[in-house]
Amino acid sequence: MIHSPRGVEDLLPQQTLQYQWIEKEAAFLFSLYGYEPIRIPTFEHTELFLRSLGKETDAGKQMYTFKDKKGRSLSLRPEATASVVRAYLQHKLYGHSGEWKVYYMGPMFRYERPQAARLREFHQIGVEAIGEISPQLDVEVIELGVEFFKKIGLANFHIQLNSIGCKGCRPVYEDQLKEYLKLNLTNLCSNCRRRYQYNILRVLDCKKKECQPTIKRAPVIGDYLCEDCQDHFKKVRTGLKDAHIEFSIDPHLVRGLDYYTRTIFEIVSSLLGPQATICAGGRYDDLVE
Ligand SMILES: [Zn+2]
Ligand SMILES: [Zn+2]
Repeated sequence: MIHSPRGVEDLLPQQTLQYQWIEKEAAFLFSLYGYEPIRIPTFEHTELFLRSLGKETDAGKQMYTFKDKKGRSLSLRPEATASVVRAYLQHKLYGHSGEWKVYYMGPMFRYERPQAARLREFHQIGVEAIGEISPQLDVEVIELGVEFFKKIGLANFHIQLNSIGCKGCRPVYEDQLKEYLKLNLTNLCSNCRRRYQYNILRVLDCKKKECQPTIKRAPVIGDYLCEDCQDHFKKVRTGLKDAHIEFSIDPHLVRGLDYYTRTIFEIVSSLLGPQATICAGGRYDDLVE
């Protein structure tokens, strides 16, 4: 008999009922905060994802890409943000005043290595808020994550926060990092030596033991933020404190996607094994252009 392909799974009735319960709780919570539902296509033009995620990111390289009968390159969605932003622009929703806040849930597809014990079709719930620069919106999105996990009974988690600056100040930092890593290239793993060329911030994210001493001594972006980014980051931290949300700042936190600016965060839990990221996100001021 034919089995299901590697990396996909059936959700049998009991599991499906659990998923439905979680989705219902999420939808209710998000609607309280003024987020509306959206459904985006399962596949898009490959170009859309490559442009937003970056070719050299894991998500960009792990796409299921295929040609349709007319030879056009299409890809199954590896994440939802690019499509949500595309929908926002395509339907000219920027004409309305105020922010556009939506939530989505559904399967995403990435060609993960089997040994990573990750599914190639996995389910994601997410929110996007477009049209506001307010740091308070960053706080709101993080708060939503916290409230969601509390609601479904997941208690053991903590938040890691960082700012990765803007297109004004980040290049200055990247130059400094490049300078520093250049002197330490021989101490880095082969992956990091490649990242040094194409995606230098991701070196900071390497988990390989051999890279840790070099990463530890690397310059941190916090020291290079421009005044606006510093001010924004300070307001996010204050907002989180006011909302009684505990967090720690991880000066080496970077995300695997190219499009983030300023605030990025991860919610990490040890409930599902060793320190797994169960929720992550950030601001993307330059994606909506
Ligand atoms: Zn900046
Ligand atoms: Zn490395």
